[in-house]
Amino acid sequence: MTVVTRFAPSPTGRLHVGNIRTALHNWMWARKQGGRFLLRIDDTDGERSREEHVLSIRDDLAWLGLVPDGEARQSQRFDLYERRFAELAAAGRVYPAYETQQELDLKRKILLGRGLPPVYDRAALALADADRARLEAEGVRPHWRFRLDHSAAIEWHDLIRGPQRFDPATMSDPVVRRADGSWLYLLPSVIDDIDMGITHVVRGEDHVSNTAAQLQMFDALGATPPAFAHEALLTGSEGKLSKRLGSLGADHFRNAGIEPQAIVALLARLGTSDPVEPQADPAPLLATFDFARFGRAPARFDEAELAQLNARILHQLDYETVASRLPAGMDEAGWDAVRPNLSTLAEAADWWQVVEGPVDAVRDPGDSAFLAQAAQVAAGLDWSDDPWHALTNALKDATGRKGKALFLPLRRALTGRDSGPDMAALLPLIGRDRAIARLRG
Ligand code: GLU
Repeated sequence: MTVVTRFAPSPTGRLHVGNIRTALHNWMWARKQGGRFLLRIDDTDGERSREEHVLSIRDDLAWLGLVPDGEARQSQRFDLYERRFAELAAAGRVYPAYETQQELDLKRKILLGRGLPPVYDRAALALADADRARLEAEGVRPHWRFRLDHSAAIEWHDLIRGPQRFDPATMSDPVVRRADGSWLYLLPSVIDDIDMGITHVVRGEDHVSNTAAQLQMFDALGATPPAFAHEALLTGSEGKLSKRLGSLGADHFRNAGIEPQAIVALLARLGTSDPVEPQADPAPLLATFDFARFGRAPARFDEAELAQLNARILHQLDYETVASRLPAGMDEAGWDAVRPNLSTLAEAADWWQVVEGPVDAVRDPGDSAFLAQAAQVAAGLDWSDDPWHALTNALKDATGRKGKALFLPLRRALTGRDSGPDMAALLPLIGRDRAIARLRG
């Protein structure tokens, strides 16, 4: 069996961190199993769907490295939905209902008022042909419900949540089509999952009760359902479902200097029994990826943890990976010198400015003679081999200075800063002439 997964966002907004996690896990499972990962744009809602969001979803996935093996758009598949819907109608598995929203709200209120669950009473199923004909003649257009089969419990083994059981008699027959003919999410999703041969549906646990209804739809359409994995939701670092999480998208992370590899490394492991590790390469993450390792408690997403992971991953990235984003002129030696000090790649430009100058040298008047002497020593050095150690060893012998008294005035004069990358790596990049000029002041 070839594994086929799909990520099925509705293009009504940008992807947020929760969607990104769902996309990632679908991608990972397909990659790990040598299968296919599909992007399905759920744009049946023509009013709320926006082309700009379709574009941003594609861009965000590309930036994250989650490249789909195929893409489908629900808005281009209405003929298929129509055909399969006709089959269900012929078999009596969907039925027209004529209640207005106000009538349904009233029924709901009455049931709730009596302390009963607000389950739809199937009044529309009891209509005689003549009743329907009269309503149609009055110009009332029906919406359509899927008739749940009440004869047996709905059961499945969820790959994350374990055994699941729903009593269909406690559920309302779901509305699958509006009176204007437009589609609600539930049925087209099942029709597509069948048509595309989806083997695993990986999504948030807010869809668990949808799955119960959808399993009966697979059955009614004569298909074997895919396996389901419903993931616990993400919470903010304060432990609550936060609004902020819903607004954190790829663009936010990109602007904050977060590398896609850091997002992948964090979201691959968050909520699992495996530790979050700074993996710049997805291969080891794929190796351990397994739904059985996911817990059922909400996973806590912490931006500070992501920032730390980002720095650790940045320190591992080699020159080829980042070259196109480095400041002009920065070569491999430059990258190797500065990368251990970076929290974000953008900071490489600050250090390159320190190399190329001009720098505002910081000079303590008490160090003037020492720095003048350093300039002299620097002028006489062999710059081809480790000038920093040659310079500091010579100055140590000549002045008796050591430790901070030796190193700090040099670093300040040479870089304008109290700390930063290893001077042994930085000084050859600054080079003889600039170094001497900065020491002379
Ligand atoms: N468009 C649905 C959503 O974004 C898809 C859910 C699913 O994966 O089936 O919630």
